[in-house]
Amino acid sequence: MPDSNDVHVDQEVIDAIGSLGNRTRLEIMLALAEAEREHRTQSYAMSFTDLYRAVDVDSTSQFSYHLTRLVGRFVAETEDGYHLTYAGSKVVRAVLSGSYESAPDFGTVEVAGVCVFCEAASLVATQDDDLLVVRCTACDSPLVTDSLSRSQARNRTPSEIVTSSGYRIWGSAVQLRGDVCPECHGRVDTVLEEHELDGRSTHLLASTCPECWLVLRLPLEIAAAFHPAAIGFFWDHGVSLLDLTLWEVLEYVTSGALAAEVESVDPTAATIELTLDEETLRLRMDETLTITPT
Ligand SMILES: [Zn+2]
Ligand SMILES: [Zn+2]
Repeated sequence: MPDSNDVHVDQEVIDAIGSLGNRTRLEIMLALAEAEREHRTQSYAMSFTDLYRAVDVDSTSQFSYHLTRLVGRFVAETEDGYHLTYAGSKVVRAVLSGSYESAPDFGTVEVAGVCVFCEAASLVATQDDDLLVVRCTACDSPLVTDSLSRSQARNRTPSEIVTSSGYRIWGSAVQLRGDVCPECHGRVDTVLEEHELDGRSTHLLASTCPECWLVLRLPLEIAAAFHPAAIGFFWDHGVSLLDLTLWEVLEYVTSGALAAEVESVDPTAATIELTLDEETLRLRMDETLTITPT
């Protein structure tokens, strides 16, 4: 991961961000997005004339000036006309979903699962600014912390918000299996870390994205549970792993049904066992962090 000395905000970045702070330019991008939606076609191209008509602007020269400020970064110019670039569609989606605004507070919701620390079945999900936190009310330990956007919270009941977070975490876990950053799709670097929590040692896989600096940590047992062999093993024993939330799966860790034995952190060597209905699936993690059933 680059340290802060490696980052300099050059003029190109300032110009790119600065070119967005204008009503006409945002309206141009929204008009292109609207055309994509109407025609159900990604990168749908609009002619100069159609785009000009779709935007409320005084003159073609003014329109042309604003469009030029977007071309090359947020809008692409082709023979067929103008369409949103990947960066342009990211900006439009951020505007439409209100991702720069905070999520409304949903209060406190009781959730299923048991605490990995004190084993009490007293978990609640609460909101801490823009974070969704699942914590144990018995010992006050936080179990899971996840980001929460306004669009995730909108049009969902509190319990649906919590469930949706469960699915989002699995989405990230699947991407991390392939070293893909869930935020920017860059290649993440993953290491095994040993943490002392409440007197017991736990092992977490820490993935860091050198591109966008996102850091995500997942318990080793949970990463192993995402091996297709483990998902299938769960299914054969009547459990649909992907439909459980992270804190519900942690219950298998608490009960010992899903257990990791780490022989060495660096180089990595570990065995993970999943025991259901007295049948055991054994997985090995090697020094490249690859998990394989044995
Ligand atoms: Zn607890
Ligand atoms: Zn990233």
